[in-house]
Amino acid sequence: MINGCECSVKIHDKQRSKRWEGIFKDDWIPVAGPAIRGFSEFDGETSQPYHALAVYRMTQSEKLMVAQRTSEYFGISLDKMIDDLEKPNMIFPIIADDIMTFICPLHTRMLTT
Ligand SMILES: [Zn+2]
Repeated sequence: MINGCECSVKIHDKQRSKRWEGIFKDDWIPVAGPAIRGFSEFDGETSQPYHALAVYRMTQSEKLMVAQRTSEYFGISLDKMIDDLEKPNMIFPIIADDIMTFICPLHTRMLTT
């Protein structure tokens, strides 16, 4: 993981952004670098590219809010969500559809040099 990364995304879609409202400053969700981390196959047909939520840049209260919203939305137990967020290899996908991406100064330098 690169230190000092501040890459983040903002979700335009109203339905999806509601789940993230008020958690992060100006609703910019921290992601682990500007690159796509993988492709989801949630619905079995179309695979969608996603970014990985940068859990390591989140405060305890931000983690708790994300865990609460996610457990409500997907009907997963809150304890399991909190556990999952603390797992170092866990990838919490943010679907890269209808989003705005902020590429931090660190990664901008890497992309242009
Ligand atoms: Zn970055």
